[in-house]
Parts: sequence; C-alpha cells; structure tokens
Amino acid sequence: MAGDVMIHSKIVPMLLTFAALAGFSSIASAKTCSFELQGTDQMKYDKDAIAVGADCTEVEIKLKHAGTLPKTSMGHNWVLTEGADFQAVTTAGVTAGPDQNYTPKGDKRVIASTKLVGGGESTSVKFPTAKLKKGGDYIFFCSFPGHWAVMKGKLTYG
Ligand code: ZN
Repeated sequence: MAGDVMIHSKIVPMLLTFAALAGFSSIASAKTCSFELQGTDQMKYDKDAIAVGADCTEVEIKLKHAGTLPKTSMGHNWVLTEGADFQAVTTAGVTAGPDQNYTPKGDKRVIASTKLVGGGESTSVKFPTAKLKKGGDYIFFCSFPGHWAVMKGKLTYG
C-alpha cells in the first residue's frame, strides 16, 4: 500500500499543474468563429444575419458561389462596414472597379472583405474581433454594382 501512496503523491500534483495550465490557455487562447455563406445566380445570400459571439476573438467568413454564372456578370464578394459607411463604400467600390473586387483599396471604412468569385468558386476572409465594437451596427454586403440592394445583412458582435 505504501507504493500506492507514493504514486498518488506524484500524480495529484501533476494533474493539478495540468489543470492549471489548461485553464490558463483557454483564457489566453484565440477562438475563431466560422460562418459559411452562399451566394447564388439569383443574386442572393443565403443569410441576412451573422451573430458573432462575445467570446470570439477572430471571425472567419467562408463564401461560396453556389451558382454557375461567371464573376463578370454575377460576381459575389463579402464586404463589412459600419452601417453609417455602407452607402459611401458601395459608391467607392464602383469607382474601384472589378480589378479591385469593387472594393476601395486601403479604405479604413472597409473592416473586412473578400475577393470577387464566380459560379462554383469559394473564398474566405479572417479578421480579429478587435476591429469590432460590441453592440455596434455593421452591414455586410456584396459590392458588385447593384447587388448590395438585396445582397446585404446585419452583423452583430457581443
Ligand atoms: Zn454579388
């Protein structure tokens, strides 16, 4: 029985140390929250709302073009701005043109954006939630000229 006591006296502190390390790492580690979204040949997203949880440190958006039309006629992307910047960024996107994915380059109002994709293609983007304010007003949309009239939704955080 003396052997059992010795084993326990070694294992218990090890387990406590492991639990402490695991607890610490779960507080300090990143949590990526992924959202999948589809765009169609009918000029629609399959979602009009994305709710990012308060504990997410990073957001990943995976956009798939579920249609067959090329990006020159039915291109889709995913752009995120504050609600107040939405209209101005869509206008700037038209000026930027297809080579810039209809997204103004280096524009600080653009919180995150993907490239433009055509039928059958996919794209994705990751960004830290440090770029968002909890309870803020955010709009995501496709910046292909005219698409934002229907291809848009609300993103919330927190
Ligand atoms: Zn589109």
